[in-house]
Amino acid sequence: MVSGIAQSLGSVRERIAAACSKVSRDPDDVTLVAVSKTHPAETVRAAIAAGATVFGENKVQEGVTKSEEIDDPDCEWHLIGHLQSNKARKALQSFDVIQTVDSVKLAKRLDRIAEDIGKKAYSVFVQIDLGQEVTKSGVAENELEDVITAVLDCGNLQLDGLMTIPPYFEDSEDVRPYFQKLAAIRDRLRDRGVFGDRKGELSMGMSHDFEVAIEEGSTIVRVGTAIFGARE
Ligand SMILES: *Cc1c(COP(=O)(O)O)cnc(C)c1O
Repeated sequence: MVSGIAQSLGSVRERIAAACSKVSRDPDDVTLVAVSKTHPAETVRAAIAAGATVFGENKVQEGVTKSEEIDDPDCEWHLIGHLQSNKARKALQSFDVIQTVDSVKLAKRLDRIAEDIGKKAYSVFVQIDLGQEVTKSGVAENELEDVITAVLDCGNLQLDGLMTIPPYFEDSEDVRPYFQKLAAIRDRLRDRGVFGDRKGELSMGMSHDFEVAIEEGSTIVRVGTAIFGARE
């Protein structure tokens, strides 16, 4: 599947630009995270050759192995899957951003490890669960305040934004209210100064719904299938 990557990456970028243009946004304000989970380093290299620079992995060990194999200082790696505390150290060492902080305990642990290994202002996102469904991942809304407060208390962590994985809908229009909700939460936190002078990133939108997410203000889309094809 290596040969088609430049083309599919190009078409994803065109779709991002079209969605931005629909709502008068600047495409430069939307970061494309190429979700390379399950795909080998060789495939990631093809994406790099085609201009991709930011990659998302959902498993710590897979991300560690792949990023070491690729060993490209111009690449940025985001952890987008659930982080178990026993893998926190490895994750901090190998990933540039952890998008999935979902508990006070995890935040405190990451802060201690960041201190330990000398990482300053390490970039984290709080993952919010807006779906309340079976595949529950992220902080429930009623616990959000506690987690935000904890992250702000962590001297070695920098709260850069919010992330969500909404429930899956056949019709991507049905997911719009979830994106609107995350944007509203971000706005509220930003108004309180939680993100300092940063914009407060909104990580939302995947292959089947990133256009809707962009219309609702997404600043980071996480796209796998539309770039790399279907996973095994
Ligand atoms: C796999 C994954 C994606 C990418 O999904 P696609 O539908 O392949 O674009 C995005 N975000 C998270 C958290 C994922 O686990």
